[in-house]
Amino acid sequence: MAISADYLAGVFRPQNEIRNALRKGRFFWTIEFVASSDHVLNDDLVTVDSFVRALARRPEVAGFSVTDRVHSDDDPDPVMMAKHIRDHAGTQPLVHWSGKDRSITDFESSLEAMSAAKLENMLLLTGDKLKITPVDRRPRYLESVSAIKLAKDNYPDLIIASALNPFKYREEEAMAQYLKLGKKIYAGTDFVITQIGFDIKKFEEALFWMDTRDYRVPMVANVMALTAARSRFIRKNQLAGVTITDSYHEFLQQEAELFPEQAPARVLRRTALLILGLRMLGYSGVQLTAIHTVDQLMTLHKQIDYLAKKCPDRVSWNKAWQESLTLPKAFIANPVPGKAWYMSSHMVNRPSSHAPLKDRIKYRTMKWSHSFLFDQGLGAKVLSGLVKNIQRHSKADKILERIERLIKAPLFGCETCGMCRLAETQYICPETCPKGLANGACGGTNDNTCEFGDRECIHSRKYRIAKDANVLSQLEHWLIPAVPDEARQTSSWPPHFRDEGPDIDKSGMDKPEPDISSDE
Ligand code: SF4
Repeated sequence: MAISADYLAGVFRPQNEIRNALRKGRFFWTIEFVASSDHVLNDDLVTVDSFVRALARRPEVAGFSVTDRVHSDDDPDPVMMAKHIRDHAGTQPLVHWSGKDRSITDFESSLEAMSAAKLENMLLLTGDKLKITPVDRRPRYLESVSAIKLAKDNYPDLIIASALNPFKYREEEAMAQYLKLGKKIYAGTDFVITQIGFDIKKFEEALFWMDTRDYRVPMVANVMALTAARSRFIRKNQLAGVTITDSYHEFLQQEAELFPEQAPARVLRRTALLILGLRMLGYSGVQLTAIHTVDQLMTLHKQIDYLAKKCPDRVSWNKAWQESLTLPKAFIANPVPGKAWYMSSHMVNRPSSHAPLKDRIKYRTMKWSHSFLFDQGLGAKVLSGLVKNIQRHSKADKILERIERLIKAPLFGCETCGMCRLAETQYICPETCPKGLANGACGGTNDNTCEFGDRECIHSRKYRIAKDANVLSQLEHWLIPAVPDEARQTSSWPPHFRDEGPDIDKSGMDKPEPDISSDE
């Protein structure tokens, strides 16, 4: 179905089935479309065409989800790719936009391009780390919280999705995800999409958190048809934030060996079972990953319809799920890592986490110093008098920037971003996060270790400090803006005393402190 001149004349308006399904509370599917620089555009469109026909037959398939730089850092621009797909599919896709190696200015141009192309749905992510890290510069990451707020403030009609990775098995990294979700919702998220996962208890926990915090935002689960080969690829390339346990991985390899013919059908049946389980839990839809053919799509539909009759309730579903993870000789796969942390207390088998003494002392000391030197204290009056009128990038500012870095680099790892946010980030500098994230963790942690593998995630540390200081609500409600490029390498002190520091949006502070006292 080629694009007609009528559309160019604005007569033909593609359906936004994602928005319609959200509004009507109808369970919906989107099909993930990985746009890669390897595939020439025409090939992709031909592939899309066959799917379009399938779409016409299945009302719950709301359209495509067009990824952003999943294969390589040079994949085609998702907005351009989504426009092509929209024009062929006749339905509004979900455009993934990730902030990796992009600035506020880049995002503003993408928003303009979205508007010009009449595209209506966006999934805003910070994104995984660049496949190839530039040697001559530090790549910046526009974080999702700032992007969501920017998009909603300037294009309020856009349907904005944001991401959550509930598949975290340490208290700190798990709570860092859930608390940051609060910020994404306050920034204007219309619906949430989880990371790919295989642990139904974590899918359930995410809904439990939403309910506990009274967040009335639809949740969509990212579901992958996980084959033995795909599991090898993901573990070899360490796809950030996706947990495939040794047990589950081994199970898939054995399954493929024992049942080479039936393995694809067993994988689809497990995928169908998971989708059914998610629908039973109350998820609003699924984003399907690694479904590449119409036949797979149709088989999945038939399987779900069949299993829905066989497993009408959670008990029968649990039994069927367990069976789908069992091989002869009673080899049962466990998609959950050992010593896993879960929010609801009866599942905990780890002591609750607390900040080490040195972090607690540092936090209190810095809080007092900040108040004395930069807030109400005598120090603030003196310092303000000395530096308040120094302008950015002036000669005096260069000297002051060096003094600021001299003092703060050894203390906090300061890189003089020009917009100090230490008072809002538990005195842990966001620049010590390789992605420079201030509002909370990306989805790439593993056992509290940073996606970059060389440190503990700073947001796990921040969580412990905030918990012990009883200020977890700051991690859930304080929206910290992104650093404008032009502020970098200047002193943050003069703007601070001119009230031109970071404009923190605290408007969401209407909820009680989250209670995470699991084993007290
Ligand atoms: S420190 Fe945390 S948030 Fe930053 S890149 Fe590492 S894992 Fe992500």
